[in-house]
Amino acid sequence: MACIFCGIARGEVSSNIIYEDDLNMVFLDIYPVSKGHLLVIPREHYESIHDTPDKLLARTWFLSSVLGRIYRVEFDAPGVNIVTNSGGSAGQVIFHFHVHVIPRWGRYGGFWSGRHRLTEDEAKEVIDMWSDKTGIIRDALNNI
Ligand code: AMP
Ligand code: ZN
Repeated sequence: MACIFCGIARGEVSSNIIYEDDLNMVFLDIYPVSKGHLLVIPREHYESIHDTPDKLLARTWFLSSVLGRIYRVEFDAPGVNIVTNSGGSAGQVIFHFHVHVIPRWGRYGGFWSGRHRLTEDEAKEVIDMWSDKTGIIRDALNNI
């Protein structure tokens, strides 16, 4: 079966891209649990965090951390979850390694509460929010 995230990485499946380079891509989850729920992937296909080569894994996880820090520091989010699911028993549905970066804007109501279908307006708003943050992301990646 074709991998949807490989399709996104190749640009064959549409997505709302926040950031991309030759190794990684960041795009909006189509069923966000909060405004700005991001997915961070390596472009290359690996089934989960536990199949991904160490260097690429470290970069992907660091990039996820940088995105979370930008939510906390630049966007003043009071909280952020950075999580990956490994295996169907852990809730993994897409078997292409990805990290969820979920900003929390208010009172915590449970991990997946507030989940909804991403609207065009919401996607545009989040893409606009991130449009001037590429430099910070690149600088951070250049320092590791
Ligand atoms: P997981 O349960 O960790 O495998 O999460 C997979 C995530 O991918 C879910 O949060 C889905 O909403 C999300 N998702 C599935 N298909 C797409 C897609 N085409 N574009 C963006 N996000 C997607
Ligand atoms: Zn894939």
